[in-house]
Amino acid sequence: MTLTFLTSCSTSGLAERYAAALQNIAEAEQEAKVDAGSTKLIVVSKTHPADLVLELLQLGATNFGENRDQEAGPKAASVNESIAQARANQQWNGPDAKWHFIGQLQSNKVKSVLRYASSIHSLDRPSLLKALIKELANQPATKPLPVFIELNLTGQPERGGILPENLIEFATQVLEQNTLKLEGVMGVAGLDVEPAFDFDRIRKSSEALQTLAPEAKFISAGMSNDYQIAIRHGATHVRIGTSITGKREYSV
Ligand SMILES: *Cc1c(COP(=O)(O)O)cnc(C)c1O
Repeated sequence: MTLTFLTSCSTSGLAERYAAALQNIAEAEQEAKVDAGSTKLIVVSKTHPADLVLELLQLGATNFGENRDQEAGPKAASVNESIAQARANQQWNGPDAKWHFIGQLQSNKVKSVLRYASSIHSLDRPSLLKALIKELANQPATKPLPVFIELNLTGQPERGGILPENLIEFATQVLEQNTLKLEGVMGVAGLDVEPAFDFDRIRKSSEALQTLAPEAKFISAGMSNDYQIAIRHGATHVRIGTSITGKREYSV
């Protein structure tokens, strides 16, 4: 385990792709006139093994995104165990990995996800809010769980996510919970529109939310194909998969 941890990067091109993403983020930050380094990069590691996460950690990545509990649970456990061992052997004095849950979360998986997730980007419906409240009430008091409300930008209610016109009402319910910390909004740009158009809609929703909760000012938006555009339109958290990790082993 620790040997794996100590090997230098073995995934071809990974260090270069990670560095390129940092460079692209820095350029977009400059264009957006936001502070250099203020954007949080979440490397989406779904479908990739724990070893890839360990390599990325050694390159300086600390935030990882996963969208399926069945996969993320064992992977997070394995990575965290490797880090703990390396730390005990004084082979690692860097940070721990932080896990962001970014996919649709079934209510019956909430308990499992809360074992490793440091934040949930996909709070997308009242029934999930209910399940989170219930499970967090059973847990020993810790820090409030950071959450983003996922917006539905498709205009089709059945597609999941909170419609922009319902955001304030839903956010009000989230804000009442002292076990949750509302970070802001999350969104995925539609395939049939200019990404900038949807990122502007996300920003408008964020501004509306901030009139109610000024501290809920963060925007989780932007993926491999559009993260620079997202940053120019206000994203504070980008979720980048394939352009750093390489092609996924299978589609999810
Ligand atoms: C997979 C995924 C990403 C990353 O997508 P890439 O195109 O590989 O960068 C970002 N956000 C969510 C919600 C995802 O499911």
